Amino acid sequence: MFELAPIRKCDKLDKDCGYLVFSDATTKMTYLRKFTFTSLVSGLAMLLLAIATISLPAMYLLVHMEYQHGQVDSESAVNAGFITDVLDDHPDRLITDPALERFVKEDVVFNDADEHETRAILAADGKTVFAKTTEETLAWPIASKQTPIIVDGETKGYYVITRSLAHLLHKAAQIFLVTLVGSVLMAYLLHRFVLRRLRLVEEDQSRNAKFDSLTGLPNRNEAIKELQRRIANSKQGVTAVFFIDLDKFKMVNDSYGHAVGDEVMKASASRLRSTIRPGDFLGRLSGAEFIIVLSLSDGEAGIQRISEAIGKAFSFSHQCLGYEIAITTTLGIAMAPEHGNQAEQLMRLADTAMYSLKATRPGGWKIYEPAMSEKIERELRLRAKLKQALQRDEFELHYQPLLHLDDNQTIGAEALIRWRDSDTGRLVPPHDFISELELSGMIVPVGEWVLRTACKQVVLWRKTLPDFYIAVNVSARQFMEDGFVDLVARILREEKVAPDAIEIELTESILLDDEVAIRILVGLKKIGVTLSLDDFGTGFSSLGRLASMPFDVIKIDHQFIAQMNEGERERSVVLSIIALSHGLGMTVLAEGIETATQRHALVELGCERGQGFLFSRPIPAEAFSTSYIGCNRGAEPKYQWMPSPGLPQPRG
Ligand code: C2E
Ligand code: MG
Ligand code: MG
Repeated sequence: MFELAPIRKCDKLDKDCGYLVFSDATTKMTYLRKFTFTSLVSGLAMLLLAIATISLPAMYLLVHMEYQHGQVDSESAVNAGFITDVLDDHPDRLITDPALERFVKEDVVFNDADEHETRAILAADGKTVFAKTTEETLAWPIASKQTPIIVDGETKGYYVITRSLAHLLHKAAQIFLVTLVGSVLMAYLLHRFVLRRLRLVEEDQSRNAKFDSLTGLPNRNEAIKELQRRIANSKQGVTAVFFIDLDKFKMVNDSYGHAVGDEVMKASASRLRSTIRPGDFLGRLSGAEFIIVLSLSDGEAGIQRISEAIGKAFSFSHQCLGYEIAITTTLGIAMAPEHGNQAEQLMRLADTAMYSLKATRPGGWKIYEPAMSEKIERELRLRAKLKQALQRDEFELHYQPLLHLDDNQTIGAEALIRWRDSDTGRLVPPHDFISELELSGMIVPVGEWVLRTACKQVVLWRKTLPDFYIAVNVSARQFMEDGFVDLVARILREEKVAPDAIEIELTESILLDDEVAIRILVGLKKIGVTLSLDDFGTGFSSLGRLASMPFDVIKIDHQFIAQMNEGERERSVVLSIIALSHGLGMTVLAEGIETATQRHALVELGCERGQGFLFSRPIPAEAFSTSYIGCNRGAEPKYQWMPSPGLPQPRG
């Protein structure tokens, strides 16, 4: 069974915009590319067909005419040669001699006469002596050759062949007709193919414009249309919009790959489909977001029924490509007419309801309340101010001493961030802005600043107290960021800090994904920094689970310290944490020690280290230097005692 780790929340507005713009542009580009390609190919094919239709008969004509001319020339020359030979043997005879007639007629003139030609022997004066005519008048075009018969240097006459080449024209015309018919046929088929292809591309595009290709569900635009249509047609009852987000879906994609992610998405779509009636609308918006639009006659009761049905549909895990994956949904719901009558506005409100529920308690359902919008607006305002604070360098670190409880020796300090809001001049505690930094991702640059500032500080303080260390809080978002280990190593190197001068404090939230967390923790251990588990007991990890984690220090959360003197039961809890941590070879530090009684009890229970208002509140670096570092300059830093005003003095 798969346990899901925390999703890294990204900027929702940015994510949505980015997706839509990208999707549209891609579809358009694909269409244009396919259209251009198909048109080019079909244009080229048409051109080739036209060239073939003209050039095939033309080539035939040219080649054969050339051949016929050659033949006429050579036959005329050969036959004139024969006659010359005969006259050479009988120089006394004239070309008109009847004795020559038989020979001339049968062997020379008619031997292989063509049916489309005339052959003739002319006397020297040009008069015809013998002639063979197969046609009355020869049709155009003709090939003709007249070769002189020369005996002893005297022209006795001429041998003439005249041949009609009209039959070649007929043949060429036939070829032209055949290729023309073939080309027209080809062009027709090509045209049909091109049209079909373009129609397919068009259909594809219009489908893409309406449906999600993975799940086959209608998309955002269709959802808006459907919602608007239902609002307009609704006479009574309510039109409800369910904005559904699959929790931690990014984790599934990251851990199992997109193929599994796609299967989970499809399976989720069909589970959602099973929870609604046939006429109700189910669509996919973007990423892991779905939408259901339906009309209800029983208002909130109907909403509850459907929300519970969806929760039930996702209560068992998906079997996808050999993996068992459990996934839950967070639903935000808005209704018309109660929350508005505009489709897009209702969708935004349902999203707001989902978003605000997800930030606090993912995995349930919530109907929109106006306070949610105010909260989100506040968050957005705060986010903008924090961005500005980072640019204006308005963050500062305060330090709270960490002590050995048995002798109150200050051995280190915890660096705690504050924000000096330049608009109000107020020093804002981390509780008011850390979660916003995490949600917006700004915790990454801010966290880097914290670590670097703490490093610079510890270098200064170590000049006086060589074993002094600073504990730095690192949020889960920062910890899970790619390259976190390298970042820590780089900052330590750049600031020339010994790794044991820095303790990294992590909370149990990083342990949601054991495998990844252990890999990062081991990486940090390799660098040489100390690792402590902050606020222990507030999360859900057990000490047993911690046995596999390379923590050096366990910090018991202040709520256990506050309650430990209330009864034996509360005391036993602290005692067991201390005993088990020691069993695992870890050092224990108690947080939030406010009274001397608490300190005393902790010493008795064997807790080595502590921090709390009893000793000091977090104070700025200069004050800390004066109180805990400067005063020890040159002296043995053994006992330091900084009781906070108004707090009881420690006993003993
Ligand atoms: P934390 O790491 O558990 O820090 C201890 C918190 O307990 C501090 O609150 C400190 O002022 C408070 N505290 C100390 N002694 C006592 C005491 O005796 N009684 C009571 N009631 N409280 C005591 P702070 O400074 O408001 O910080 C709150 C939380 O904000 C921190 O809890 C830590 O989780 C987070 N935080 C502070 N600085 C940073 C930072 O630089 N990065 C990150 N990621 N988180 C930070
Ligand atoms: Mg801490
Ligand atoms: Mg703590």
